[in-house]
Amino acid sequence: MSIDDGATSQSHGSEYETIDQRVLIVGAGAAGARTAIELVDQGVPAEDLLVIGKRGHGDAHTTWARGGINGALGTHDPEDDWTIHAADTLNEGHFVNDPEKVETVTQRMPDQLRKLDEWGMPFSRAEDGEPDQRYFGGQSFRRTAFAGDHTGESMLDTLIDQAQDRSIPYSENVYITRLIAEDDRIQGAAGYDMDAGEFVVFDTDVVLLAAGGYTSIFHRHSSRDDENTGDGPALAYQAGARLMDMEFVQFHPTGMVGDRYGDEWDGRLVTEAVRGEGGHLYNADGERFMERYSPDQMELDARDVVARANAQEISEGRGTESGGVYLDISHRDADFIKERLPRMYQRFGDLGVDMAEEPVEVAPTAHYGMGGVMVDENGQTDIEGLYAIGETMAGVHGANRLGGNSLAETVAYGEAAGEAIAEHLPVGGEDDDLLHERAGSHFADLTKVVNSEGTHDPEALLDELRATLWTHAGILRNGEEMTEGLEELAQIRHKAADIDVGGPTSRSFEFAMNLGFALDVAESILKGGQKRTESRGSHARTDYTETDSDQRHNIVAQKDSVGGMGLSTRSVGEPSESVQEALDEGHELDYHHLE
Ligand SMILES: Cc1cc2nc3c(=O)[nH]c(=O)nc-3n(C[C@H](O)[C@H](O)[C@H](O)COP(=O)(O)OP(=O)(O)OC[C@H]3O[C@@H](n4cnc5c(N)ncnc54)[C@H](O)[C@@H]3O)c2cc1C
Repeated sequence: MSIDDGATSQSHGSEYETIDQRVLIVGAGAAGARTAIELVDQGVPAEDLLVIGKRGHGDAHTTWARGGINGALGTHDPEDDWTIHAADTLNEGHFVNDPEKVETVTQRMPDQLRKLDEWGMPFSRAEDGEPDQRYFGGQSFRRTAFAGDHTGESMLDTLIDQAQDRSIPYSENVYITRLIAEDDRIQGAAGYDMDAGEFVVFDTDVVLLAAGGYTSIFHRHSSRDDENTGDGPALAYQAGARLMDMEFVQFHPTGMVGDRYGDEWDGRLVTEAVRGEGGHLYNADGERFMERYSPDQMELDARDVVARANAQEISEGRGTESGGVYLDISHRDADFIKERLPRMYQRFGDLGVDMAEEPVEVAPTAHYGMGGVMVDENGQTDIEGLYAIGETMAGVHGANRLGGNSLAETVAYGEAAGEAIAEHLPVGGEDDDLLHERAGSHFADLTKVVNSEGTHDPEALLDELRATLWTHAGILRNGEEMTEGLEELAQIRHKAADIDVGGPTSRSFEFAMNLGFALDVAESILKGGQKRTESRGSHARTDYTETDSDQRHNIVAQKDSVGGMGLSTRSVGEPSESVQEALDEGHELDYHHLE
């Protein structure tokens, strides 16, 4: 489908196309694709749906996921089950996850993996032909299923094949800039065709945001610069929905670092699977330093623990000249590495490093935002008809995420939201005057941005914002620094009103849109971080180093009546009896069994 199929209208002096569709899915990664499939399987006609992405077909961030996807299949460890998976997830999330959402994901995952297998996902196999499962950090059993180290790409290919078999319509290179809601009900969405530079309105009954996360707004990050700019959370927030847990940002311990790899590789992920397959961390003195930080779980302790250990080694002068530590899997033979970590082996090989012969250099990098849009058990926000799932939603991961749990969340919530939307899909027929009035006014504002010839380059301002977050809300934070960060952010916001944009199809227009979203998301991270006066999981404060049991709650951000950002807290639920039992049993990986 092309967006030229819509009718042309005019409002507030702007011309635009209108597309009528019952369900608009914003995001064509795993979460969006899985929801679309479920909707059709629940009986919603494919022609009532439209999936859009701001990149080309099949090019969503999901393709970058490498290491694997969790589900208690028990291929090697039959004693594993979903309740232990839930217990591990709650432990890793430091008990501020929403237990109901954790259970939705963990309980659905064994079936989700079987379904992906049936649909032809090329899982790596154990000897008995079942999907193989490997260790990932913080998990009691081998629970991470994988397709080599290209799990995300293989999974998205599989889902896209299924979506195409069901003739689900898809539009590429469409950027949603605004959601339109009235009286707490979604009316539609507005955006533009990035190729033609034309404005478009989607007149819909349901909008599902599956627009990814927000970590590329940190200076060092593992994602693409123009993905994960916080569009999903910001779109929902600007429409009046609530955000939750935005202060919890996962810094992955092993991002590439060093002159040898070049700037374009800085921060890029070296998958956790390298440690899952036995990789060791060493400092520049040759010491396997995890023995000091986590003698039981070593390199497979939780990501926040390993990331802080790496950061400490580097800051205390035991790092490499490039500001990293060494990750070494050269004790495994080359064939093993090529089979289990083919993309990593090839990537480093292309850069002149043979992983079977020598270590690679790594340092922490911003990797995943545990926060996002606050939703109910089906993925619906406070706004009726507006759903948010996948990396855009909050609640599953709490204060820190287990590796392999985000791909799990995309498909488990894709199914859950698909079921709920199909069940409650309104019949439509709402008056669209208001939608056109609001969209027209938004397009008039966008037209001013498109033609602006101000002082500042939007991309440079985004880089300033990234530096601000890295410095003031990085792996270690404190109140004073976060206050300074908010002051810097206010200056960037001021400059953002005076930008230079090169037309509707230019990169600078896209960057200007990204910047608008990133500003709100950055504010929620810094404000949430200030309000949480304790250390918990990924949120490590140097001025409040202990976890405070009185702060076992979520911090929620919402637009107040004068357009500012207001914060409140929300209490956390309790797990079900069966998950509590699994917690009480105290499962834990003993790393030394692996050696
Ligand atoms: C390097 C890397 C490795 C990872 N490895 C793993 C792993 O091994 N296991 C694991 O569980 N997780 C992993 N993750 C995390 C995981 O990949 C993501 O959380 C997951 O893929 C997110 O999927 P999603 O469908 O929610 O969003 P995405 O795949 O990010 O898709 C977002 C979609 O929204 C669209 N979009 C965004 N904004 C707009 C807009 N304004 N208008 C229109 N469209 C828009 C995008 O074009 C895209 O189609 C990894 C992440 C990274 C960065």
